[in-house]
Amino acid sequence: MHHADMTPIGLPPIGSSSKLFAVGWLEPGHDYRRGEVETDLVRKLVDLLINPWQSALTMGRHACGFCRLTGGPTSFHLGMVSDSAVLMGVSNLWLPGDGFLFVAPSLILHYMDAHEYSPPDEFQEAVRACPPMRSMAYLKALLKNGPKELFPATG
Ligand SMILES: [Zn+2]
Repeated sequence: MHHADMTPIGLPPIGSSSKLFAVGWLEPGHDYRRGEVETDLVRKLVDLLINPWQSALTMGRHACGFCRLTGGPTSFHLGMVSDSAVLMGVSNLWLPGDGFLFVAPSLILHYMDAHEYSPPDEFQEAVRACPPMRSMAYLKALLKNGPKELFPATG
């Protein structure tokens, strides 16, 4: 599933929303930004993706389209630290922005690692500013900036 970076993304049953923006939904045949990524940014992204909050609305499992034989790895380990594994392709990162949320697939780590992907600056800033995953501050930021359809339980 391809979505250009920083374009509105829809999740059934929510249509394309001005409060959800895609980052890191890469597919072959669509150009994307390449460049260096800083280790501290990657480390923070790993922290956020180890056990990420998930909406009841899921986008299904997806594989890396650039790794044409394997579909990419099933988990991501930063360096030799084996207890910080992030499962690939099954979860998404819901990242608070300013009046909206970024929605990024966990594969974004693999794209940065193996395919030279460099996410938009706005996204990188939001990663750095993001409160700890599942903390009250994080959940409040989701509620404040995201579409309310994302939280059916809260009406
Ligand atoms: Zn790949």
